[in-house]
Amino acid sequence: MLTFQQLATKTNGKVLQFAAPLPVNQLLTDSRKLSQPAGTVFFAINGKFNDGHKYLAGLYQQGVRQFIVEHEQDAKGFNYSRLFPEANIIVVANSLQALQQLAAWHRAQFTIPIVGITGSNGKTIVKEWLAQLLAPDELVVKSPRSYNSQLGVPLSVWQLNSNHTIGIFEAGISMPGEMEKLQSIIRPTIGIFTNIGTAHDEGFTSRQQKVQEKLKLFTGVDVLIYCTDYELLHQEIQKQTIKTFTWSRQHPSDITINATTAAGHKTIVVYTYQGEKQRLAIPFTDEASVENALHCLAVLLYRNVPLAEIQDRLDRLHPVAMRLEMKEAINGCYLIDDTYNNDLAGLAIALQFLANQPQRGKRTIILSDLLESGLSEAALYSQVALLVQNHHVDKVIGIGPTISHHGLKFAGEAVFYSSTAEFLGQFKAEDFRNELILVKGARVFEFERIVHAFQQKVHGTVLEVNLDALVHNLNYYRSKLAPETKLMVMVKAFAYGSGSFEVANLLQFHRVDYLAVAYADEGVLLRENGITLPIMVMNPSPDSFAKLRQYNLEPEIYSLELLQLYLNDLPAEGPRHRIHLKLDTGMHRLGFTPEDFDALFPVLQQHPQVQVVSTFTHLAGADEALHNDFSQLQISNFRKMAAEVEARLGYPVIKHVLNSAGIVRFPEHQLDMVRLGIGLYGVEATGSEQEALKSVSTLKTTVSQVKSIVAGETVGYSRKGIADKDKTIATIAIGYADGYDRRFGNGAGQVIINGKRCPIIGNVCMDMCMVDVTGLPVKAGDEAIIFGPQLTLTDIADRIGTIPYELLTNVSSRVKRIFYSE
Ligand SMILES: *Cc1c(COP(=O)(O)O)cnc(C)c1O
Repeated sequence: MLTFQQLATKTNGKVLQFAAPLPVNQLLTDSRKLSQPAGTVFFAINGKFNDGHKYLAGLYQQGVRQFIVEHEQDAKGFNYSRLFPEANIIVVANSLQALQQLAAWHRAQFTIPIVGITGSNGKTIVKEWLAQLLAPDELVVKSPRSYNSQLGVPLSVWQLNSNHTIGIFEAGISMPGEMEKLQSIIRPTIGIFTNIGTAHDEGFTSRQQKVQEKLKLFTGVDVLIYCTDYELLHQEIQKQTIKTFTWSRQHPSDITINATTAAGHKTIVVYTYQGEKQRLAIPFTDEASVENALHCLAVLLYRNVPLAEIQDRLDRLHPVAMRLEMKEAINGCYLIDDTYNNDLAGLAIALQFLANQPQRGKRTIILSDLLESGLSEAALYSQVALLVQNHHVDKVIGIGPTISHHGLKFAGEAVFYSSTAEFLGQFKAEDFRNELILVKGARVFEFERIVHAFQQKVHGTVLEVNLDALVHNLNYYRSKLAPETKLMVMVKAFAYGSGSFEVANLLQFHRVDYLAVAYADEGVLLRENGITLPIMVMNPSPDSFAKLRQYNLEPEIYSLELLQLYLNDLPAEGPRHRIHLKLDTGMHRLGFTPEDFDALFPVLQQHPQVQVVSTFTHLAGADEALHNDFSQLQISNFRKMAAEVEARLGYPVIKHVLNSAGIVRFPEHQLDMVRLGIGLYGVEATGSEQEALKSVSTLKTTVSQVKSIVAGETVGYSRKGIADKDKTIATIAIGYADGYDRRFGNGAGQVIINGKRCPIIGNVCMDMCMVDVTGLPVKAGDEAIIFGPQLTLTDIADRIGTIPYELLTNVSSRVKRIFYSE
């Protein structure tokens, strides 16, 4: 095992402080993923949007004692050795490079075959399938999920241990120069180049350059496996002296595909290998899956897996879930469905996702036996039990003979079943209530049957919320703020329709400074779900004052009348009460004007039990350049008024003015805090930096029925949809009661079905509407996208003369929300 001293040599670092000899087990780069502080080394990486050095103190508090840092001091000039007296600390020039060097060194300790996969599409699926296909004869180590970046690859390779017999790692790049680094870490002996497409074209001067760059992964491989039908790929590879093993549908190759035909849910492939015709059934029909399976076939043939075995193993392949999702389930439960595989790295990621979700009562995990770990059973289940405990799981349901055998290792509430059938035989829905349940099982356990038992039947319209995109947007706005500027995030109106406590919880996790809601009840809901951040309430009604105090919510006070009512209601004794003063500088909605000051301040002075924590104003036209002069005037008036507020109070308060558009347009006026709203949810209100944000919400539904009508017939209420020719019509399961605005009717709105935009025909009904799909292959059950990355909120809002804010917040509460992470 590596010692801390050796760590310094391997990373070319300088030991800043050596406190105690400690083992080096886990490498950590994301403070949220801490699971076992003892043995963890944290690499403080200074990324584009976030700086790992900010999390050192928190991690130290949680027990981490080994750090790789880039400076000897923190931003305020305090020495890390003084701040963290019990820590081992190494200073390096670049923490990411240090991590990569360490991983490259670790890789060099092993001589087993290593498969390296790159290409535009299919990397993760080919990797997952190969792992499954090779598992009967090998102990496989592989990248978790799609850990294929400059950061993900070193973490993946670090998992290698002496029991593994083969490694499978994927490599993804977006710019020239990146692949050489990944090659030095993975050093594959078997290469797979899946295909070449448009992904990340923008980072390269030409497609050819991109291919050449990706090929660098295969420097020194024993063999490169690819499909010669990708012409550019083929040309570039032939220029090199790499030994290849190829397949093709077009010309003779090592594996020549003679025919592929769909047969029900399968594709029958006839191919020629070593002069003999063979036949193979692939359990998929879509082109991408067939291609991925053929890459896998090539690897199996190259590794001399017997032909008879190959069919048997392929039969058991399943689609790979590319992301973790949280779905609403029975009795107020939420389910995280991760039933595809079950290994230690995957379990750690899923537990992390579980731990990051809002406090929703109990956390439960349903876990099968783990297969293929390379550890002894006893060591494996001790690790599993520790992982489970460290992620605050309340209840463990173990399924399978091995996990049951090691049941005593699990502390706390734990029950065990020998098989999935036994669990389902005893399953009672009423035993589960308000729980967040992670379902994680190896394929053979068929946990999809368990997921099915928990799933709630709801109508087919869902709003999918991409939590990674939300964090991306948060970090984007953060990158614009001065280091000392605080961040308040607006989670009013159910977090702009996206789910208030899920979003608030993520924000709490990412340490924003303040939240704001419109009404007291919204704040109470957050508190009841474990949100402890300070919360400002913008419309506190007098009947909610007691609640505000009970739940530690801070009212916005905007008039003298409101202040008086608030003061009258205050108990004589108790702690200081925090309030926020709203100033009106031109919006003319709520707020004090300078004329109110003479009456306001004497009242505040007479009530020292009330503390003004902040004062703020709201810009009326920050989103439009047309109003720049007016915004500037509002800001300068606010600066003057806020200075007077502070002078009259005799103490400093937090001053804030900018909303999302303001942050983009007036960076010089961040003052002490900004208030982020719509931007977090993926809409850049000024329009000038939209590309920097990621789309957060996708509203989708399904096609209920498809029918043909002839010219002259009409569609829907009031016979408004008139067929000018013969048409095909699809009815989709969304209407104005779901928040799909009636103004989208009669061609104003469009939805995307199977990648094509289709116009709404006729009026929008309460629960459904009709779409013109003439000439398109649409069938009942197909997905219809109302808005999402492909059809932006701004785009559809413009079509009916409204704004994204209205569309987002109108999505009805009966629409099921699904939260996911890539
Ligand atoms: C809603 C709101 C914001 C956020 O506005 P966005 O345009 O969504 O960024 C900021 N301040 C106040 C007072 C608000 O009501």
